[in-house]
Amino acid sequence: MNELVNGDGRGLLTAPSRTKGGLFVQTEALTERSSGTESGSKGVVDRPAQVLSRFHANRLLILAALSLCAVLYLFSQLYFPAYAVVVNGKNLGMVRNRADFQQAVKRVETKASQVLGCEYTLQVHPNYKFGYTFGAQYVPSSVFDGYLTQQVGEMAPLYAVIVNGAVVAASQEKDAVNQVLAQMLSTYWDENTLSASFVQRVSVRYQYVPTEKERDITAIKTILSGNTREETVYSVTSGDTVDSIIKVYHMTKSEFLSRNPGLANGALKEGQSVRILKNVPLLSVRTTKTVSHIRPISYAVQTIQNPSMYRGDQKVVTAGKNGSMQVMEEQAYINGTATSRTAVFSSKMLADPVAQIVAVGTAARPLTEPTGVFQWPAAGRITSPFGYRHIFGSVSFHSGVDIANSPGTAIKASDGGTVSFAGRKGSYGNLVIIRHGNGRETYYGHCSSILVKQGDRVYQGQMIAKMGSTGRSTGSHLHFEVRMNQVAVDPLAHLNQAAS
Ligand SMILES: [Zn+2]
Repeated sequence: MNELVNGDGRGLLTAPSRTKGGLFVQTEALTERSSGTESGSKGVVDRPAQVLSRFHANRLLILAALSLCAVLYLFSQLYFPAYAVVVNGKNLGMVRNRADFQQAVKRVETKASQVLGCEYTLQVHPNYKFGYTFGAQYVPSSVFDGYLTQQVGEMAPLYAVIVNGAVVAASQEKDAVNQVLAQMLSTYWDENTLSASFVQRVSVRYQYVPTEKERDITAIKTILSGNTREETVYSVTSGDTVDSIIKVYHMTKSEFLSRNPGLANGALKEGQSVRILKNVPLLSVRTTKTVSHIRPISYAVQTIQNPSMYRGDQKVVTAGKNGSMQVMEEQAYINGTATSRTAVFSSKMLADPVAQIVAVGTAARPLTEPTGVFQWPAAGRITSPFGYRHIFGSVSFHSGVDIANSPGTAIKASDGGTVSFAGRKGSYGNLVIIRHGNGRETYYGHCSSILVKQGDRVYQGQMIAKMGSTGRSTGSHLHFEVRMNQVAVDPLAHLNQAAS
């Protein structure tokens, strides 16, 4: 009460202060305190409470704003904008971008096209619903891939048997398939086998394959041990026709014509190349084995010089002997048939070869030594050959050849040797006989004069007599004989040059 009476301003001011702004109230309160007036108990309690409540209200507002910000911040951190992908009424999950799902469609289409070997298009029509996802829980792409792959009914994950890159069959039984392959190799295995492998690239891989490739193990065994058709070139032989060729190779006409366009009506020519399909084994087994055999080793020839032998002469001092070696080789086979390629694996010497030793003469050969080759003894023409001849109804044997020329023509030793006879001898007239060794002799008959004597050594080409017509002769000529161990032989067969 006192307050209201004494201090007009105070009483007037306190009432409106409740509706007005707090700043004014605070100013008045401070003014009153400084005046030192005794204040009533009511006034002391009321004023701080008002201040506190106003301050509290402000703080709440700030807190509310901060909280809102925090919530918004948290929301933005925890919830993310996304699209729900709905296909055929089924919600597949949330994606950040619609493209994420489209990419999965493309991936699966590409994969299906590869597996099935044709352009594959998925019939998927997704709806996208905008929303938020907690904690960025987007669907991993594998979920879409799995779902979409299931939509491709024509393929399934199986153990594919792949030969040279192509799936030939597929099965769910991995071990059984591997066993079939192992058995095919073991057929060729024995104690000498070093290796056995398929010629073709063969693998068993777990992958998506067209479901039509799935077979049971018996069927897989049949496929793998069977044939495949391979395109190759055939050379047309006489009598071939397009029909006969396709019959032999079990081809259809269209198979043939697609490979040989333009041959529909044309006749085939012998030797012409055409493309055909030929049955060949799908798998071939290459094995290598050790094989052992004895290989001869040729002996070497060594020469030693011998000054007591004439140059050009040689003689075997020690006969050579071949050695032998046991050779272990690696022999390759294709389906059990040996191929030519072999590589030496190991070798063991069984017997060393013995070198042949040959003595070679180094001494100069005297001119009078026989050369072994007869030379033509005189210039002239052959008037009577060696052999049987018919004269006036009788048959006689001519033991040499007659070489006719003018009297005095030089007669030369046909080869080097020793004069064994020089003189007159019956129908030969003036005769020279030269011994050449090894049972060989030459006779020179009807000579007009003789230039050597018995025992003389003569060299090949040395003039020994002159042509004439002594003895039983009808004109100037040389009767020339060659004898081998007393037997007359045809001189023409032993002369190194023909008559001129
Ligand atoms: Zn004669």
